Amino acid sequence: MTAGVEGATRWPAITKDVAAFPVRPNLLDYDAARRDFSWDQARQALAGLPGGRGLNIAYEAVDRHVAEGRGGKEALRFVMADGGTRSLTYGGLADGSGRFAAVLQGLGVGRGDRVFSLLGRSPALYTAVLGTFKNGSVFCPLFSAFGPEPVRQRLHLGAGRVLLTTRALYRRKVAPVRDSLPDLRHVLLVDADGSPEPETLDLAELLAQADPIGEIADTQPEDMALLHFTSGTTGTPKGAIHVHDAVAAHYATGRFALDLHPDDIYWCTADPGWVTGTSYGIIAPLVHGVTAIVDEEELDADRWYRILAEQHVTVWYTAPTALRMLMKAGAGRAAGHDLSALRFIASVGEPLNPEAVVWGQDVLGLPVHDNWWQTETGGIMIANYPAMDIRPGSMGRPLPGIEAALVARDADGKPIVKDGQAVLVTGPDTMGELALRPGWPSMFRGYLNEEERYRRCFAGGWYLTGDLAKRDGDGYFWFVGRGDDVIKSSGHLIGPFEVESCLMEHPAVAEAGVIGVPDPVAGEVVKAFVELKPGNEPTEELQLEIIGFARKRLGAAVAPRLLDFTTTLPKTRSGKILRRLLKSRELGLPEGDTSTLESPAGAAVPLKDQP
Ligand code: ATP
Ligand code: MG
Repeated sequence: MTAGVEGATRWPAITKDVAAFPVRPNLLDYDAARRDFSWDQARQALAGLPGGRGLNIAYEAVDRHVAEGRGGKEALRFVMADGGTRSLTYGGLADGSGRFAAVLQGLGVGRGDRVFSLLGRSPALYTAVLGTFKNGSVFCPLFSAFGPEPVRQRLHLGAGRVLLTTRALYRRKVAPVRDSLPDLRHVLLVDADGSPEPETLDLAELLAQADPIGEIADTQPEDMALLHFTSGTTGTPKGAIHVHDAVAAHYATGRFALDLHPDDIYWCTADPGWVTGTSYGIIAPLVHGVTAIVDEEELDADRWYRILAEQHVTVWYTAPTALRMLMKAGAGRAAGHDLSALRFIASVGEPLNPEAVVWGQDVLGLPVHDNWWQTETGGIMIANYPAMDIRPGSMGRPLPGIEAALVARDADGKPIVKDGQAVLVTGPDTMGELALRPGWPSMFRGYLNEEERYRRCFAGGWYLTGDLAKRDGDGYFWFVGRGDDVIKSSGHLIGPFEVESCLMEHPAVAEAGVIGVPDPVAGEVVKAFVELKPGNEPTEELQLEIIGFARKRLGAAVAPRLLDFTTTLPKTRSGKILRRLLKSRELGLPEGDTSTLESPAGAAVPLKDQP
């Protein structure tokens, strides 16, 4: 059996010198924190609605700061296309979100009603999310690059009552399907400019006429606040339900895993259509009272280095797909940018190849800290902490308050349960299904209208994540692969991540996706799809060289037997390699649900949809 743990021996741990941190990390003693921390402590750090009326995320994120005299502080700094910036203070955000709540009230939108967005990173989105919470309604963001069908499907599943979007997106993606969405009563255009489309409203005009609501809705911790569709990497997207109590987890994880301090300039690059864009692009930074950068444009290496330098970003939260893109652009692009303000880099969304961790150290001057979580968990669960040694290729250790384990699986991949208790894998470096003990605040409370699918996520006292992992003797977890992606070859279980990471160590390889293809003798053999760095030709010679390179490092049983060059790997909107699609294309099978595919060819498309 093989997985990341053995691969790690090629990469020494990155030893952290705590004293070298410009700001004292929030978490210094991991063992003590795990022993002493309870979620009630995190809840006590929250203010709660004035008069003990309940808990509302918007109050914790915005109005609390105003009440405590920090209304003039810059909350959000938007970097526009030309590199110029516009800012919103905490006071401005309180006012704007209060007005948005009033607009909803005026439209008769109430508690629990769903407000959707189909928008890029525009200021209107941020006031709308918070205003929706203030009104006691439920927010559901969609990727602005979705086509009409995925938009229709999600609005329908979520019974969307309000949709916030732009004129161009409305015309192209919503108007054609509007008739089939009877629940959708109001479409608010953020750029109507005084002349909305038929059957839509001008948001700016409504906001100008509204007075901020006087009192925030007295939501309770278990009231629904957010509906988030999963990335759809493995199949039909699920609508995960999150409640106001989640803010306790956003607060605690922002402290422990992202090391947020009020004086930070923090930049989360996630698209607002994905859960990271809400949990860590909006809620966690605002609850901590930091200044958060929002780049209104899409990923571009030169632009990103400029933003890091010119905005003096101190804490940066990004994703493997973005880091790989920067690596592909070459280290020279970082030269000349003063990144000295940067003190912490974290990554989420996919396994982070060890190569990328070390590249951060070499090129940005800081290693990248991988962390793991899912739409369902609502917040970071396992992380390489600021003050903890990093093991490149590992996702780190469970956060305080989080109990993680590996559940044994039978030959069919089903969790093994005995006497009502899941059987846990205990030996170091043995693979099992990553499982979490239910009960943390940002845990999803269900899949909307899919009770059975929700129930199947639990067995023997644990929430099953669908991911396979190992744990080393020091408690670091190592991602092996999604349950469905693991390859069985001649009796070996092969995790695609380790093979992909090895391929990326070859100097010509920019990115790789690995699948299993049927083989009469071995059951399955490993096939790799490789994207080359600029300047490399896809020759047969290079093909053989890369296979040989992998074979030397991984052994013949694990290394790819087959290798194809490709110019674009298919990815989800949130940047994950869609291995199931590589596989169905390879086998000539139906492609299944591709609603979250970035583009039909898998080519990068701008995140921001232009008219
Ligand atoms: P779907 O559930 O619809 O198939 P998805 O699982 O990709 O889609 P998300 O909730 O956005 O939807 O992604 C969570 C998944 O992403 C995790 O279960 C894991 O497979 C992967 N992931 C996230 N972070 C990491 C990480 N640091 N290391 C390895 N895998 C990660
Ligand atoms: Mg998932």
